[in-house]
Amino acid sequence: MEKIKSIEAIIPPPAPHMVGNGFRVHNFFPGHPLIGKKRMSPFFLLDYNARIDFSPSEEPRGVGVHPHRGFETVTLSYHGKVAHHDSAGNSGVIGEGDVQWMTAGSGLLHKEYHETGYSRKGGPFQMVQLWVNLPAKYKMTAPQYQEITRNKMGKYQLPADGGTIEVIAGSYEEVQGPASTFSPMQVYNARLEKGASANFSFPQFFNTGLLVIEGSITVNGENVGTDHFVLFKNDGEIFTLEASDTATILILSGAPIDEPIAAYGPFLMNTWEEVEQAMKDMNAGKFGVLQE
Ligand code: MN
Repeated sequence: MEKIKSIEAIIPPPAPHMVGNGFRVHNFFPGHPLIGKKRMSPFFLLDYNARIDFSPSEEPRGVGVHPHRGFETVTLSYHGKVAHHDSAGNSGVIGEGDVQWMTAGSGLLHKEYHETGYSRKGGPFQMVQLWVNLPAKYKMTAPQYQEITRNKMGKYQLPADGGTIEVIAGSYEEVQGPASTFSPMQVYNARLEKGASANFSFPQFFNTGLLVIEGSITVNGENVGTDHFVLFKNDGEIFTLEASDTATILILSGAPIDEPIAAYGPFLMNTWEEVEQAMKDMNAGKFGVLQE
């Protein structure tokens, strides 16, 4: 008999800060004291650009050249478009509803800007960036990208036109998501019609949370509003969502990576020696070169 995974906390959006001039983000973790660096492992960071309107700009807003090593950045667009370029010559656009799953691994330099067409028009902008930790043995894996456009996601249709579970990583019922991951995890967008409900079951030891992107829901019967994050206890397996209005919910669940963390700025390693090495390697040009 499966037990209820009960709610540990419903967290309102923390005060926002700017990342460069293009992302106005609420950091739910590691900044929140209830979560910190490990409580949502393998997910290390969640920056949420709640829906805002940017005015038109000929000069795209964003964040300039910076490195990453030791983890993955997963960027999910809900409104607006982001363009990225990296030091290996890769570039692309993350369109509305799409996900870019970037394995920084051994390291790269990149920059992330509003896509030119979106920037000229302006308008609604809503994004999530997750940092997914890598197990020690994969921290120095070669960088790679998975472009997970919305049409590539697994789709589970809820009964009675109740909506869709979009499976990005892991699986829901018999539907598989396209993302290849380095540790076990489930990442979904639940898109629910008003009044629809859906049930979820994850192992008790999986760290689990959800973010209400749009609309409002009840979780195990408790009301949760837009832009709020729900942290679950590790006390059971199952929970139920019901949409009070048409709702979009980002659902995260994964097996914790039980290893030491040495996190400094854009580096997420196991030891401080590895962080120092990352800085040395960056200064020695081993992350490549990228023009501002
Ligand atoms: Mn970045």
